Amino acid sequence: MAVFSRHDSSAHTLVLHNTVGHFHRCHAYLPVHDFLQVDAAVAAAKEAFPDWSARSPQQRAQILNKLADLIEAHLEEFAQAESRDQGKTVTFARTVDIPRSAYNFRFFASSVLHHTTDCSQMDHMGCLNYTIRSPVGVAGLISPWNLPLYLLTWKIAPAIATGNTVVAKPSEMTSVTAWMMCKLMQQAGVPPGVVNIVFGTGPRAGDALVGHPDIPLVSFTGSTATAQRITERSAPYCKKLSLELGGKNPAIIFADADLDQCIETTVRSSFSNQGEICLCTSRIYVERSIYSEFLERFVAATRKWKTGVPSDPSNNNGALISKEHLEKVRSFVALAKSEGGLVHCGEGVEQLDLPEQNSSGYFMPATVISGISDSSRVMQEEIFGPVTCVSPFDTEDEAVAKGNGVRYGLAATVWSRDVGKIHRVAKRLQAGLVWTNCWLVRDLNLPFGGMKNSGVGREGGKDSYHFFTEVKSITIKH
Ligand code: NAD
Repeated sequence: MAVFSRHDSSAHTLVLHNTVGHFHRCHAYLPVHDFLQVDAAVAAAKEAFPDWSARSPQQRAQILNKLADLIEAHLEEFAQAESRDQGKTVTFARTVDIPRSAYNFRFFASSVLHHTTDCSQMDHMGCLNYTIRSPVGVAGLISPWNLPLYLLTWKIAPAIATGNTVVAKPSEMTSVTAWMMCKLMQQAGVPPGVVNIVFGTGPRAGDALVGHPDIPLVSFTGSTATAQRITERSAPYCKKLSLELGGKNPAIIFADADLDQCIETTVRSSFSNQGEICLCTSRIYVERSIYSEFLERFVAATRKWKTGVPSDPSNNNGALISKEHLEKVRSFVALAKSEGGLVHCGEGVEQLDLPEQNSSGYFMPATVISGISDSSRVMQEEIFGPVTCVSPFDTEDEAVAKGNGVRYGLAATVWSRDVGKIHRVAKRLQAGLVWTNCWLVRDLNLPFGGMKNSGVGREGGKDSYHFFTEVKSITIKH
């Protein structure tokens, strides 16, 4: 089987979502796959595995680089499609999602050429001890809707670079760019069966993939609730799992921070991509001596973060993913108000100035709330929208305790000019990623992933290499 991209007209779903209110031009149909198609895709991947895994890393890297070239050559088409499907601005898709998708292939094409394995120098009975790594087999890959092509390629690239074949499922909410990439795979020379993309919902296509006995490893990015189901479903097969999940990420801002830089970055970290990034800041703790000044300046800066038509380059944010999601995000603002929270800007405070044709789109302005207790659901649960809460602290210990006081542990930012304080706080924070005096600066060599309910395992350069390969210890007695 070739790249699994046939249009199955007997079962199709609307996948190009109407997030922005343009009813007349935002529809596309893709297949809804279930167990039968997933089974066929797994069979194709199994058949392709012996040849693909036997190729040299250099041969595989060449194909990955070609794919990166092709994505870059079609960057504008991909950016337009990603924006229309997801609701994000074209600018964001053009400068973040699509370049990074191409770079994922380029990075792992290079990375796979530079790993070394171990050789033990211990002289046990004159033996030579060393390790080798081999691809695992058919990898099951499942990705979410917030960064559609970016996160799908973050999984496909290391999986195939290391010699696995894959069956991948993008989110049913945002499948269009995955569909577009199928065609490029053939042009890039990806052999038939190496990358199989199945489309459809979690309970159908996703569940069939996770429960398939011939898929020994699953890399999943999505919500903690779905990860719990995937863990249960795969347990009888003892599958290798990598789980990249939700977050409730704190920013800890000390009085000696560079406030200009901090405010500009914290607006971005709170609201980029409509706040629909797992790494977005949603709890901002500020040292009490600068709390009032910070809040005033932060709200003023947030008011300048513009929400509107995704194709307008002057807008920072576009539309949220769906009506249901918009309602969920709004319900958290209502909950905050009912608990005595103060909404400084955004939802309920400002009216968006939208053109008539976009008036039914799922837009929501960047919203800042204060006065919420740390135990509130607003401070504990992942909202995943353009909402952030600000709260004061008095001591370093208190800031760390507040930062750690949720079930998640994905990312945090720390703002201070005192390197000793930064080091102490970063070390004590329960988060897989800590950015100090910056946000979302990514070196793909570094481990990416979360603690606690934010995930299991890490991905990135060496970590992806380890996840997508099995290690074997060999001892030679001579
Ligand atoms: P989701 O869990 O609802 O869906 C993610 C994917 O899982 C989709 O492809 C979906 O179809 C599939 N799925 C759903 N049910 C399934 C099942 N029973 N079996 C197999 N697959 C199933 O998540 P979402 O709403 O698409 O994405 C938002 C979530 O993703 C947020 O919680 C966000 O924090 C998280 N996320 C995490 C990271 C990270 O790297 N840690 C990155 C991006 C998003």
